[in-house]
Amino acid sequence: MIIGGKAVQAQSGKTLEVRSPVDGLTFEAIPRGEAADIDLAVAAARQALSGAWGKLSALERGRLMLKMAQHILDHAEELALLEARDTGKPMTTARNDMVVLARYFEFYGSAADKIHGEVIPFLNGYQVNLLREPLGVTAHIIPWNYPAQMMGRSIGPALAMGNAVVVKPAEDACLSCLRIAELALEVGFPPGALNIVSGLGEEAGAALAKHPDINFISFTGSNEVGVLIQQAAALNAVKCVLELGGKSPHLVFSDANLELAASTVVRGIIQNTGQTCTAGSRLLVQSDFYEEFLSLVAEKFSRVRVGTPEMNLDCGPVVNLSQQQRVNKYIAQAQQDGLKILAQGQIDPNVPNGGYYVTPTLFGQVPAEHPLAHEEVFGPVLAAMPFVDEAHAIALANGTDYGLLAAVWTENGGRQQRVAKALKCGQVFVNSFGAGGGVELPFGGVKRSGHGREKGFMALEEMSTTKTVIHFHG
Ligand code: ADP
Repeated sequence: MIIGGKAVQAQSGKTLEVRSPVDGLTFEAIPRGEAADIDLAVAAARQALSGAWGKLSALERGRLMLKMAQHILDHAEELALLEARDTGKPMTTARNDMVVLARYFEFYGSAADKIHGEVIPFLNGYQVNLLREPLGVTAHIIPWNYPAQMMGRSIGPALAMGNAVVVKPAEDACLSCLRIAELALEVGFPPGALNIVSGLGEEAGAALAKHPDINFISFTGSNEVGVLIQQAAALNAVKCVLELGGKSPHLVFSDANLELAASTVVRGIIQNTGQTCTAGSRLLVQSDFYEEFLSLVAEKFSRVRVGTPEMNLDCGPVVNLSQQQRVNKYIAQAQQDGLKILAQGQIDPNVPNGGYYVTPTLFGQVPAEHPLAHEEVFGPVLAAMPFVDEAHAIALANGTDYGLLAAVWTENGGRQQRVAKALKCGQVFVNSFGAGGGVELPFGGVKRSGHGREKGFMALEEMSTTKTVIHFHG
């Protein structure tokens, strides 16, 4: 762990085993940080704000972040290998994750000296300045699906705005995050600017969320924990940004570019083995060409291959045993309920025994009330269903508790606009999906997908505050 600029173990000396999803074997140990370690990390962050970190100008902070972006790229292969071993993802995906991680530091490093306050016209004799200031100590609780990317997304804007950060990465995958914090020290981030404490969610994570000396929480993870985070934030009256997953739909109309839509739909659910908050896990298709489109999707879906990071196929294993059991349970339950499997991918026969592999599965004619149509599986399971017309498509799309993202597939310009406006979610893609990291694009949900915005310039606003200075000069 990194606390106050030093590499440390947990004060208790306890560790947690790290298992690789590739073969289920233990290959590493990480410190099991607890409340006492969180106390030290928050104190170190607080000190950094009144020390060397707090004294840096926006320009200097930005330069440090740009240096960090380059340092990440120089270590991209090492980080990607670590990420692939820890999460099981294909090497190509892991490598791409590091490019996106570096991009977060580049984007926010370049923005550090470009976000500024305002002068507000007021009564004669007054000068009113709106200052934009850091929040203070910001807490960042990171999920295991894209550990490195998520850390960059969360701390990039926080550091650019001059906050001092405490990161609690996920116990299931955090090796890249720990290494990123070391890299930050190497490029010269002052002690305490970036602290990281590994450990269990209910120990280190809970201690961080309820710490009385933090000023903000950024959380990406499950709905259940999101509620706990919001409760903890409420007790200390601090702001939080929550990103809690989704059940994102594709709305495919019969005038769509079928080939492009079909291949994008398949990629949108198998990416990262479906363990993506924005996974396109519902496929809504206009009924008059449902059969035709689904046979195209099924044909592509049946070509999906699952393997180890080195095999570098379409998907890797899922992250751990409980996730494997969860996904398999959804598939088994749907079959028991009589839902029809239209296609399945294949697990490479040469994957090691003991790994957490699941079979990508496409279900057809899923009724809107079936759990597969509205619960987040967080695995490579796609639920397809027909719709009759635009109004029906919108009703189905908006008919879950989630509202993170959606994609509309149609060549009709009016329909593109109407449907995009009617969808209740934080991002809508038209004739596209996902768009390569989208560091620049404000991102977040409505309803149970959470609130607040990450990415783009909006994250800089979320992770800062304003002060209105009203000066009477006569
Ligand atoms: P999942 O169920 O997919 O593992 P979680 O929401 O449990 O997702 O985990 C996301 C992040 O939240 C991880 O870093 C985890 O350690 C952390 N976490 C889990 N439980 C808590 C908690 N009670 N308080 C704070 N953080 C937690």
